[in-house]
Amino acid sequence: MYDFSTIAELTAEAEKAGLPISSIVISREANESQKTYDEVVAQMRHSWHTMKDAIDKGINNPQKSVSGLTGGDAPKIYSMLNASAGKSYLGELACCACAGAVAVAEVSAGMGRIVACPTAGSCGIVPGALYAAHRYKIKNDEPIVRSLFTAAGFGMIIDEMACIAGAEGGCQAECGTAAAMAAAALTELAGGNPEAVAHAAALALKNLLGLACDPVAGLVEVPCIKRNGFIAVHALTASDMAISGIRSVIPPDEVVMAMKEIGDQLPLALKETAGGGLAATPTGRRLKEQIFGKQTE
Ligand code: SF4
Repeated sequence: MYDFSTIAELTAEAEKAGLPISSIVISREANESQKTYDEVVAQMRHSWHTMKDAIDKGINNPQKSVSGLTGGDAPKIYSMLNASAGKSYLGELACCACAGAVAVAEVSAGMGRIVACPTAGSCGIVPGALYAAHRYKIKNDEPIVRSLFTAAGFGMIIDEMACIAGAEGGCQAECGTAAAMAAAALTELAGGNPEAVAHAAALALKNLLGLACDPVAGLVEVPCIKRNGFIAVHALTASDMAISGIRSVIPPDEVVMAMKEIGDQLPLALKETAGGGLAATPTGRRLKEQIFGKQTE
């Protein structure tokens, strides 16, 4: 039975067993849930299909959300994939990751079906990044499904060591964790060893440290939805760095602890209270009033 509560332990288990991190996480999950290996994988396969369905829905939906703040951006960025347009600096794969992430986040804002990965606010990052990898690199669904366990392993560890909620640790905890999860999955898919996978996660997380949670009107729409698109591309960058041999100078577990410390130090105004940052701008306040009416303090 594999056991781990830190990234160093998870990496060591994988290295000792000569297995990818996904195998370690699947085995532990099967053991803890009293299910067979195949049952656990089948459950994750179902989640992957839900993610893909959300992307399909989002990239084809030009409608605004109920608040009117967001909606219809996924089809716009997805249209940049059209090679004949030739205007994308990102290129097809990264542009696809961005579109997929925005699509899922828009579906979530519209109360559609998504997989909280690790949370609803950050639900587009892992699917968007993996959808792009699937479409352009790894056509078979099964390696993608397995890589979701790698993502899950990092999500579980970060949740245990620090936190994954914007209300507790700021957006660095929510979208930062999703970025680490996506980068880890992408790196395993690209053939990175467990050490590279761990460092991809660290690279992704550490470059989002300090990110505030400041949703306009308290709705998980602005800046959340576009942020999902940006961070899916961010995860691709972290994975490419790790695969190229770049390592985080600060060890992965220490990056997670730094995230926790920063989260503890963040003021309440930047922890999903809509009391600071973008939510507190004149426009943020005006939009809140427009949606909910003038409120007496
Ligand atoms: S800004 Fe806050 S609500 Fe929005 S995605 Fe980030 S953590 Fe979630």
